[in-house]
Amino acid sequence: MQHNSYSLHNLRTLPQIGSLSEDQIREIEIAGSVLPFKVNNYVTDRLIDWSNVPQDPIFIATFPQKDMLPSEDYEMMKILHESNASSYVIREAADEVRSRLNPHPAGQVQYNAPVFNGRKLYGIQHKYRETMLVFPAEGQTCHAFCTFCFRWPQFTGTEEFSLSYKSMDMIVQYVRAHPEITDVLITGGDPLMMKSQVLAKYIEPLLAHDLPGLHTIRLGSKLLSHWPYRLTTDNDAQSTLNLFRRISQSGKHLAFMAQFNHPVELGADVVKEAIARILDTGAIIRTQSPLLRHINDSPQIWAETWRRQIALNCIPYYMFVTRDTGAQHYFSVPLVEAWRIFKEAYQDTSGLCRTVRGPSMSCLPGKVEIVGPAEMSGERVLTLRMIQGRNPDWVDRPFFAAYDEDAAWYDELRPAFGAEKFFFQDELDTMLEEGDTDVGFE
Ligand SMILES: *Cc1c(COP(=O)(O)O)cnc(C)c1O
Repeated sequence: MQHNSYSLHNLRTLPQIGSLSEDQIREIEIAGSVLPFKVNNYVTDRLIDWSNVPQDPIFIATFPQKDMLPSEDYEMMKILHESNASSYVIREAADEVRSRLNPHPAGQVQYNAPVFNGRKLYGIQHKYRETMLVFPAEGQTCHAFCTFCFRWPQFTGTEEFSLSYKSMDMIVQYVRAHPEITDVLITGGDPLMMKSQVLAKYIEPLLAHDLPGLHTIRLGSKLLSHWPYRLTTDNDAQSTLNLFRRISQSGKHLAFMAQFNHPVELGADVVKEAIARILDTGAIIRTQSPLLRHINDSPQIWAETWRRQIALNCIPYYMFVTRDTGAQHYFSVPLVEAWRIFKEAYQDTSGLCRTVRGPSMSCLPGKVEIVGPAEMSGERVLTLRMIQGRNPDWVDRPFFAAYDEDAAWYDELRPAFGAEKFFFQDELDTMLEEGDTDVGFE
């Protein structure tokens, strides 16, 4: 398939544009001047059901909607557009709205880069003992910008914190000096935006050097849901698969971490073909998805997604709670409701789907899973558990928050039983004060 891409500047050339009213197009243009979007013809031709627009979940995931902006901000942008304000004025106003929507400025990762041999290592994150994240410079863009993903610092100011393959010597030394690292996760953006030759420059050094403690290379990608042709008919499909095979043949495990938001993304023959090709290299595919209002906020959708994944030999891995950035008010699902959706989907599937973990929040102390509500000593509580922790000793310890139907993120929860803080808080404060820790995105 020939690749065509659509964003704000050529929105009106989209073949399906006639399915939208002039008002709907204007709304996308106004909201889209703040929330960046980019989409390709696989998504518009194969995934979006245009007869179901504007309710269609993939349409919502793709095109910015009026309600994704706070209403005052939308109205302000609308006035600027309608008064034919200059592109400079519109951009300034948009930047101001963005800075309020995204509390995680670009410099943060740079600030938190780990220090090694007296030098800061840009472009890696080592928050959890076993797993190091690598952000290759050329991989900090994506097959499509989803409306719920607010990573534009990543899509614009890449050189600030991403890594060049020229630094791979340092990374190899770092992994060697940290034998507790069993997993390197190459992430983005989407690392499969890189041509295979470029991707190889990040992966080959990890295979060529003697790193006996390193067992797994993970690649986080949404190519299966957004451009499966990357591994079927694209020019370097075969060389990419050959690279995957070299990982397996070197004795390391390749975990392909695939993002799917909706079962419709698992329906096309080309997806099945791409999945089969990945598996044929010896890799395993694990899947993850955020829970999103208007897109997949029902147990039926999740159960169907997991079942289809099992049928295609993929392993359900994570349900994430949408993080507290961007258009969170539009997409967020309160934690108790998230648990209910998860539980009903989990109850409705066989044990083979129940490898999935979640709903989970990636937050400051670690990855916090919502185990569910309970009543203890006459108090309603929300049971939580850390599935990753800054201190490995925190992992798998249950802890309890006061029951709260409305809380949608970790920082809105209060400890149960009148406690002042959660069990890890003092240690966390010390870690952050000492500043010798990688604070990561949080
Ligand atoms: C989720 C995450 C990982 C991987 O955790 P697993 O439980 O091994 O999947 C590693 N580093 C960071 C910063 C993460 O957020």
